[in-house]
Amino acid sequence: MFEIATKLHDESRQGEAFTQDIPNDRNYKRHFYIESYGCSMNFSDSEIVASILFNEGFSATRHLHEADLILVNTCSIREKAEQTVRKRLTEFRKLKHQKPSLLIGVLGCMAERLKSKFLEEEKLVDLVVGPDAYRSLPGLIVDADDGQKGINVLLSREETYADISPVRLNSNGITAFVSIMRGCNNMCSFCVVPFTRGRERSRDPESIIKECSDLFNAGYREVTLLGQNVDSYYYNQAAATAPSVPQGGKVHTQPSLSGNTLIDNDTPKSGESALDNPPPEADRGAGFITFAMLLEMVAQISPQLRIRFSTSHPKDITDEVLFTMAKYNNICKYIHLPLQSGSNRILQLMNRSYTREWYISKVDRIREIMPGCGISADIIAGFCTETEEDHQETLRVMEYSKYDMSYMFFYSERPGTLAHRRYKDDIPEVTKKRRLQEIVDLQNKLSQQSNKEDLGKIFTVLIEGDSKKSNKDWMGRTSQNKVIVFPKGAHLFVPGSYVDVKVNHCTQATLLGEIV
Ligand code: SAM
Ligand code: SF4
Repeated sequence: MFEIATKLHDESRQGEAFTQDIPNDRNYKRHFYIESYGCSMNFSDSEIVASILFNEGFSATRHLHEADLILVNTCSIREKAEQTVRKRLTEFRKLKHQKPSLLIGVLGCMAERLKSKFLEEEKLVDLVVGPDAYRSLPGLIVDADDGQKGINVLLSREETYADISPVRLNSNGITAFVSIMRGCNNMCSFCVVPFTRGRERSRDPESIIKECSDLFNAGYREVTLLGQNVDSYYYNQAAATAPSVPQGGKVHTQPSLSGNTLIDNDTPKSGESALDNPPPEADRGAGFITFAMLLEMVAQISPQLRIRFSTSHPKDITDEVLFTMAKYNNICKYIHLPLQSGSNRILQLMNRSYTREWYISKVDRIREIMPGCGISADIIAGFCTETEEDHQETLRVMEYSKYDMSYMFFYSERPGTLAHRRYKDDIPEVTKKRRLQEIVDLQNKLSQQSNKEDLGKIFTVLIEGDSKKSNKDWMGRTSQNKVIVFPKGAHLFVPGSYVDVKVNHCTQATLLGEIV
């Protein structure tokens, strides 16, 4: 897998088992072991599952031999992710021979995609639970204990788990994910997420603010607001209280397209300065909460709490969001803005609803409103019918955007997606891999350049803990999401402290500095 790891989709975290981090003052009946794969959303969901199980008298363990229940929270985004999980489930199945009372469950996107196939054909597991059905886990476990197969893969239009306080496991105690919405309405043709995670719905802002405030009071200093498309967060408080409208009832409209160009009031006009266009006070007081408003509310919890968010969709990120980011020091100056392809023809086949020109204008706007803002991307090599010229266009947009880092993939056809139904997966694997390697090589060069530009600069860094290599060094992040390592020296800082660090050296992936 060609990916440059960061904490948002950290390859080193794939298959991570939760550490026991639950107060030991209860009489636990049984132990569960959970492994998580895929995106940050899945890791965040595992914390909701842990909370549900904790209330049922289960305790977490990171030791397989102690487990009465093994859960695998799965990802379907690429075929390789599914293969990894299948292999793991086959290994767990062997443990069941030694301990027949052991229950094995598959959660998340693969559960949703393959449904009863796991139970009936493959006979790999006892429980199959989709991303919107975690509340039914306790009942399904009782059924499975009685020898019945427990399955619930119903998708919901309302479930946001807003009232469930996630149990933070494997946490560094400083940074946490907070889910603000679920599902996706976008239907990018390559993507399985709309089918496995259902329709988009936004979580009520009060519960988000409460979760972030509780985290801050517990010593956390950074929250990452999570959603497949955070810029389309939209909570209609009036609808939430009116009985005839589903809770949170956002009217999710499709982007309006004119030919190949998006019509949007946020489209920068030529010659217009960002400062000529202050953020609108959009709908304030009218019962609507947009993502920009939510960001502002979270930013106001404390100047000592850093805020990040992921993922932004280029068609949806607004000036209002960018101005809100610029206004608050504690909203990190970093945007993950997936490109997928730099070719208009491929973007249209991908159903991404923007053009390369639109994308570039968003990059320009970010840099205009927030000079020095970090930008990263997702890129797919070898989508159906991609020519060498299409591929070169992707490289050109990368050069233009000067990404600090990217997640890079080759196209993996997923059954049931629009692309699977409409287009032939016609790029040979060897070509996909060669193009991906060219994208990775260019990104490595851009990351190195970006890091070199930071030499001599001073950044405020949030200390997350000891560096991986030495407990004499701290590891933290800049606002731009770059990892920085520096000697602790004689200073009395602790994880969660903010400290000014001067960059003296760098590698492609890390800045190295000293406290000033
Ligand atoms: N919602 C986010 C967005 O629109 O950017 C990303 C969600 S997806 C979990 C993360 C990334 O996986 C996508 O941005 C895309 O680059 C990649 N991806 C999704 N489906 C893929 C596929 N079939 N083959 C290869 N990469 C894929
Ligand atoms: Fe998938 Fe597109 Fe939705 Fe992202 S925006 S989750 S890529 S469908």
